Amino acid sequence: MISLSIRHARLATMEGAQAAPGDGPLALIEDGGVAVDGERIAFAGPDHELAEKIARGELRRDRGALEIDAAGALVTPGFVDPHTHLLFAGDRSAEFAQRLSGATYSEIAQTGGGIISTVQSTRAASDEHLVEGARQRLARLTRGGVTTVEVKSGYGASIEQELRLLRLIRQAGQGASCDVVPTLLGLHTVPPEMDRHAWVKVVSTELTTEAAQQGLAHGCDAFCDKGAFTTDECRTALEAGVRAGLAAHLHADQLTNTAGAALAAVIGCSSADHLERTGAAGVEAMARAGTTAVLLPLAAWFLRDSKPAQAAPFLAAGVPVALGSNLNPGSQRMEGSSLLLAAGCLFSGLSPAQALWACTVGASRALHMDAPPRPDHPRPPHRSPPQLRLTVRERRQNDCTTEHTESTESFLVPGSCASARS
Ligand SMILES: [Zn+2]
Repeated sequence: MISLSIRHARLATMEGAQAAPGDGPLALIEDGGVAVDGERIAFAGPDHELAEKIARGELRRDRGALEIDAAGALVTPGFVDPHTHLLFAGDRSAEFAQRLSGATYSEIAQTGGGIISTVQSTRAASDEHLVEGARQRLARLTRGGVTTVEVKSGYGASIEQELRLLRLIRQAGQGASCDVVPTLLGLHTVPPEMDRHAWVKVVSTELTTEAAQQGLAHGCDAFCDKGAFTTDECRTALEAGVRAGLAAHLHADQLTNTAGAALAAVIGCSSADHLERTGAAGVEAMARAGTTAVLLPLAAWFLRDSKPAQAAPFLAAGVPVALGSNLNPGSQRMEGSSLLLAAGCLFSGLSPAQALWACTVGASRALHMDAPPRPDHPRPPHRSPPQLRLTVRERRQNDCTTEHTESTESFLVPGSCASARS
């Protein structure tokens, strides 16, 4: 029973190939219609077909169903942010000025900054404070058109604290107007009170199993880089996650090429993220494995990295490219969908249409949101697919990096992106 229909929309079905030129990735239907049945999209296609189905009684309208004349406005799936660290406490804004003055990562850590400082602040913070901060950040992302947000743990650095943070991520999501997908980031930093080998073992055995069995995490992640965790350590932790039924992700090749992308492919990760230093072998391995590339150009910009990851090699190899904000307390504090779309174009070389695809379909694939649930692995109820986003302004050529998001009035329509293809 149709509860909502949108008529005469410029409908971006996102069924085009991401590498296609121009507006190809959007696969636009110029006079399109959408019919929503509760939480499901019952129809997405040419408007005249929608009208015919309603006239023939194949689609029946609920009493009181809402009909919107989009008058040529662009309708897209909601944005998905597949990479954030937005549940935290503490203030590391001073590090930005330090970094601009030329301070290195280790110098910042020596003056009491870095990930460990967030671990200490987050451990000390109350549940209420952490949830409220996360909800405020989620609300700001939602205002920019984001309807699904992945949130990583990683600032607990003990079994109890990591499980606590995963619970709080879920709690923050329950009060938010977007879906929240929690990820266990066990190998983020070595706990100050523990030996690194002991921590890797704890993450790979107890923590990952607990998080999966309690249904607290949809995915697992690890920070693979020089100065973080080795490929062997990350493999051990993520293979445990895959065995437990979690979707695996990997922070790969951000600072150095440690063959992180190839490792992500071998493990069967849904996504490899960052990829600033990934070489041709890593790209090819990801293509063979079907691993999505999550590029984080805002982080590269924030850190003044002169070599942000480029989309072209991945697109040429057939690797889907997603964009993520990497919102976190230290190395990326910028918020906004317009900014991310623009950064994807300016720093990573995507076209505006490819960037829009990256923030919707690409990001959804990175989170493995279309995977069927496994009854033996209970998961939190975050599976509702991306919502539709109706942009109430006629889209002009190339305006999706400038006017498409915050400067337009928009509202969100619940429904399934995936079923829009049927
Ligand atoms: Zn990250």
